[in-house]
Amino acid sequence: MPFDFDLFVIGAGSGGVRAARFAAGFGARVAVAESRYLGGTCVNVGCVPKKLLVYGAHYAEDLAQASGYGWSLEGARFDWSQLIANKDHEILRLNGIYKKLLEDSGVTLIEAHARVVDPHTVEVAGKTYSAEHILVATGGWPFVPDIPGKEHITTSNEVFYLPELPKRALVVGGGYIAVEFASILNGCGAQTRLIYRGELFLRGFDGSLREHLKDELIKKDIDLQFNADIARIDKQADSSLKATLEDGREMEADCILYATGRRPMLDNLGLDSVDVKLDARGFIEVDDQYQTSVPSILAIGDVIGRVQLTPVALAEGTAVARRLFKPDDYRPVDYDLIPTAVFSLPNMATVGMTEEEAKEKGHRLKLFESRFRPMKLTMTDSLERSLMKLVVDADTDKVLGCHIAGPDAGEMMQGIAVALKAGATKQIFDDTIGIHPTAAEEFVTMRTPSGFA
Ligand code: FAD
Ligand code: NDP
Repeated sequence: MPFDFDLFVIGAGSGGVRAARFAAGFGARVAVAESRYLGGTCVNVGCVPKKLLVYGAHYAEDLAQASGYGWSLEGARFDWSQLIANKDHEILRLNGIYKKLLEDSGVTLIEAHARVVDPHTVEVAGKTYSAEHILVATGGWPFVPDIPGKEHITTSNEVFYLPELPKRALVVGGGYIAVEFASILNGCGAQTRLIYRGELFLRGFDGSLREHLKDELIKKDIDLQFNADIARIDKQADSSLKATLEDGREMEADCILYATGRRPMLDNLGLDSVDVKLDARGFIEVDDQYQTSVPSILAIGDVIGRVQLTPVALAEGTAVARRLFKPDDYRPVDYDLIPTAVFSLPNMATVGMTEEEAKEKGHRLKLFESRFRPMKLTMTDSLERSLMKLVVDADTDKVLGCHIAGPDAGEMMQGIAVALKAGATKQIFDDTIGIHPTAAEEFVTMRTPSGFA
């Protein structure tokens, strides 16, 4: 046989592992190289440890509210290092599961950095391997703007391993990671401030939700500073950090977390030697079958910079494996109506069009909003409120978008996404019997439009 492998995957993250396992399952001879950690970003420094820390942070609210339900919990203490140690233990378990998954599916795993040498050759730890197809699934890496003192900052890679909880945390950015970590650090007890360069964080999400979350985070004592950006960072004699803002203000912190987006991970990958084209933002350019400008080299996941979410990388991995090795089962990835959640406290989740996007696309809209106090909080002092919103096409009655801020928003949204994928109209929502008493039943009981647009 001319090649050592049918498929050589670089990167054992969400997309790479999925493609490798499925390809091997279809009978292909597959190798995977992984330089850092099995399971990639999601398992090690992303979705999974993040969600564990969000659960950890939420206990602060649960404990504070417990007295409303008759529980006395005086003397409760929080130990950050215990939370991190337990999280590490769980991640180690998952690393083992990923290893076993790969080995059990007959994939050859090489735990070292890989470089592309030519269109059919990869070099790993001094050895070369030939492959008919090479799949680049190397993911992303935190992007930090080039400011004086950037060597003092923390990124999402390190925040998961902080030896102690900072007393004062400064989070920079207004995207998923910034908002989630502001909630985590604040919930765990750090005095937390978030700095975002624009008018209002979470650009691209529905305006009502963004405003609502702003109010909720303020209620939880997170100091939100919008229209602000850091010009320089200095380390002080007591080893705390001083951030000087562009407007001249100075802010002190023990940890400055930059969550200002992610760049593609192409370091020492050798792509220049094979002329793989990058797009204007520096991500690998692929066609609709994930093929790069070099036909034998494909790319999926965060490194192509389309939708940086684990389930999307998984879907792309499945699509590649099927197209190459089980073409009869091939289905292109459907990027329409991808549901997503921000695991802030409270959570928010969304599927479909925002009100702003629907208007821009020329739809006449009926809007439905419900704002309420979650039932679980009624016997507590919590002032938290939830928001649910439906964006409906006034002409066709089709539900174009659905948005939630409140406890378990992500859990609720998955089912709603199925309804929207199926093309549900508002009438179908109305005809569906609710589950009582839940927050989710609001979606089938919102009768009176809150507005037209
Ligand atoms: P990755 O999972 O990043 O895998 C790439 C792998 O390639 C890595 O293991 C890397 O070590 C390896 N690699 C890189 N270069 C080489 C090389 N040259 N040789 C060998 N190996 C190499 N998504 C969600 O859907 N839900 C969430 O809640 C969520 N939370 C997140 C929280 C954080 C803090 C972050 C940073 C991301 C989060 N994401 C979340 C995004 C999600 O983690 C990514 O979209 C997903 O991991 C992308 O998968 P991937 O396969 O493209 O890359
Ligand atoms: P995002 O792209 O979501 O947000 C980046 C933020 O940083 C934006 O607010 C952006 O501002 C700001 N920013 C960018 N450049 C600069 C700069 N030079 N100076 C100051 N601010 C800047 O990236 P994240 O890092 O939060 O997360 C990366 C991706 O990972 C997400 O987009 C998401 O796909 C995925 N993810 C998913 C999660 C989930 O599913 N729950 C959780 C965490 C991550 P502006 O808006 O003005 O451009």
